[in-house]
Amino acid sequence: MIVEKNNRLSVKNLSVFYGEKEAVKSVSLDFAPSEVTALIGPSGCGKSTFLRSLNRMNDTIDSVRTKGEIWLDGVNVNDPGVDVVLLRQKIGMVWQRPNPFHKSIYENIAFGPRYHGVRDKRELDAIVEDSLRKAALWEETKDRLHRSALALSGGQQQRLCIARSIAVSPSIILMDEPASALDPVSTAKIEELIAELKQEYCIVIVTHNMHQAARVSDKTAFFYMGKLIETGNTEQIFTNPVEKATDDYITGRFG
Ligand code: ADP
Ligand code: MG
Repeated sequence: MIVEKNNRLSVKNLSVFYGEKEAVKSVSLDFAPSEVTALIGPSGCGKSTFLRSLNRMNDTIDSVRTKGEIWLDGVNVNDPGVDVVLLRQKIGMVWQRPNPFHKSIYENIAFGPRYHGVRDKRELDAIVEDSLRKAALWEETKDRLHRSALALSGGQQQRLCIARSIAVSPSIILMDEPASALDPVSTAKIEELIAELKQEYCIVIVTHNMHQAARVSDKTAFFYMGKLIETGNTEQIFTNPVEKATDDYITGRFG
């Protein structure tokens, strides 16, 4: 399993349609290694649709049509020849609700590497431990690896899902409101974890929580009605946005 690290992801004029409805409108946005980008904007503005198109999760929805380019490693992700399983190995995903498999903690992590050809038990053990350590879950789970993942708390389950995405050595991790179903303590743990993980991965996170965006991200992109209105360094977006719509949103005048 050889994966080039530190790739840049570059989106050019991406439009996504559900039937006739254009949910994402010609968005261009680049994502750099070791950087967290927060996607913010009111509900329904296309954040999740945009995020899911980066690793072609939208393919599973029949009515979806996509225009534009998404470049990773010199390949346009939207090319028909792209192997989506390998694509999703490079661009992992963590969803809003923790969705561990109905399997043991160990099997949740080992599933991906095994699928990609790792057979050696010692190697799998090492991947499981390393992934759980990186997801700040090892200490809590090392004595119960073969018990059901569903017995973990919600926050632990979400860190398990992060560990599961790490286990196949992605270069990019997409997170769609990963803490919105969690309590404040678990949320803080996820935010700490994002700060750790960004040293190794490019992270794109959708959040409706502006404080969270300000805390965890380096770059912020503000979406409104399917369009990317403004993007820049998080501090600049939150203190000195260029566009009035951005200012209105971050000061709570709408959304
Ligand atoms: P956000 O994540 O910013 O709340 P979404 O990407 O979920 O926004 O939705 C953008 C728009 O696309 C909304 O108008 C929503 O109703 C529509 N939409 C989202 N998912 C689907 C779908 N599976 N089929 C049809 N329309 C959808
Ligand atoms: Mg959403």
